[in-house]
Amino acid sequence: MARRRQIYEGKAKILYEGPEPGTLIQYFKDDATAFNAQKKGTINGKGVLNNRISEHVFTLLAGIGIPTHFIRRLNMREQLIRQVEIVPIEVVVRNVVAGSLAKKLGIEEGTPLPRTIVEYYYKDDALGDPMVTDEHILAFGWASQEELHDMADMAIRVNDFLSGLFAGIGIRLVDFKLEFGRIWENEYGRIILADEISPDGCRLWDIATGEKLDKDRFRRDLGGEVEAYQEVARRLGLFPEGDGSDVLDLETHRKKRGK
Ligand code: UDP
Repeated sequence: MARRRQIYEGKAKILYEGPEPGTLIQYFKDDATAFNAQKKGTINGKGVLNNRISEHVFTLLAGIGIPTHFIRRLNMREQLIRQVEIVPIEVVVRNVVAGSLAKKLGIEEGTPLPRTIVEYYYKDDALGDPMVTDEHILAFGWASQEELHDMADMAIRVNDFLSGLFAGIGIRLVDFKLEFGRIWENEYGRIILADEISPDGCRLWDIATGEKLDKDRFRRDLGGEVEAYQEVARRLGLFPEGDGSDVLDLETHRKKRGK
């Protein structure tokens, strides 16, 4: 197969040139990082699971009218997406106190928030993704007022939808991170949801037991990362035949045969 041109390599994904102008191929790696890449590791099979989970979530979101970059899944680790200009802002939505918020304000993890909080972080690894306000975003031109409004509005809609989706399968959506991109249609710029939605960028707690089913298992050395991601996929109904381990086995088998 002809080697595709690599456009970008991030911590958990690689972007390749797509088959048509305006498209890219998003490849999901098994690499995991935390604490601004100070902690690095591999979670075998994570890429396969995140590809499948993100496909599912983005498809459901498109169904409620959220525009996304997702076009279709190509294979176990790749999906075809629309090329966007990434807005350099991570939008974090919180329903329950956890992670950096718990640490910063000294509030116990698990404390429910009286209202949903939306936060913005400027995407800059060298600076450790500092938290910024809408004032900074507008002053430095990272997004326009209208774009910021669209992002916040979509973030709340995504939160409402996903909170219900996960509650229905016994999972509490504690917080999550979204990224958005800009596309041009007839010289008219539009904001669409980009990146991925998976246990890498969400905090997902089992409602009955409080067990963490997300990347905190890796961040906090709890073990059982793949099992947790598999459990999320299984509850979403993505592995009707079993727990998904057969899918991962199949991939290992194919790799061994050099395919
Ligand atoms: N998050 C993310 N990427 C980041 C920072 C945060 O996906 O670079 C997600 C994280 O998984 C969590 C939410 O955003 O679901 C809030 O993260 P927090 O600010 O608590 O930071 P953390 O404790 O993860 O460093």
